[in-house]
Amino acid sequence: MLKKDKALVVFSGGQDSTTCLFWALERYESVETVTFHYGQRHDAELECARAICKEVGVTQHELDMTLLSQLAPNALTDQDTEITQEAGALPNTFVPGRNLLFFSFAGVLARQIGAKHIITGVSETDFSGYPDCRDDFVKSLNVTLNLAMDETLVIRTPLMWLDKAEVWELSDELGKFEYVQEKTLTCYNGIPASGCGTCPSCELRARGLETYLRKKQVEQI
Ligand code: ZN
Repeated sequence: MLKKDKALVVFSGGQDSTTCLFWALERYESVETVTFHYGQRHDAELECARAICKEVGVTQHELDMTLLSQLAPNALTDQDTEITQEAGALPNTFVPGRNLLFFSFAGVLARQIGAKHIITGVSETDFSGYPDCRDDFVKSLNVTLNLAMDETLVIRTPLMWLDKAEVWELSDELGKFEYVQEKTLTCYNGIPASGCGTCPSCELRARGLETYLRKKQVEQI
């Protein structure tokens, strides 16, 4: 494939956005990342994101979005709040307006650095029903951003219809399975790689990995 264009990857250092980063590096001539600070529970997340960008050799932009936790205190930023999800309700890790703000700022930055494509790892499939991870929302915001700035930016969501097992499969296809397994941080308790093993995020990641490895084994027989 002939590489052209520049892409901006919305990057947190987790499994999904790291897979997106490698996906983008295969497709675009030039790739940069944007990482948002919003008062994460753990500095480890930001350090992990920085370390990956440095290792991979991409320019990382960091934007301060701590006003988000000022507006809406939530379990992702408040150390004392336990992460919970009641049946039929959004988990308390949901931050109202988060992706609306993040993607809007990513759009402004993309325009500024001359990136036509914005890549994000949001997914409808496995992700607790967050409304701002849905395809409709992303498409709607894409139109709004272009109207707001008279631009032709494209928000791309390579993981939108993949479950966690398929995200592992994609990282394997990209030749980055081990890297994603060892270097990323998805755990709500700030522990890299396979994490604490008990938080909802670790459970989702581990279940996906198990499913993928089982599938791979069957295919190899
Ligand atoms: Zn965990």
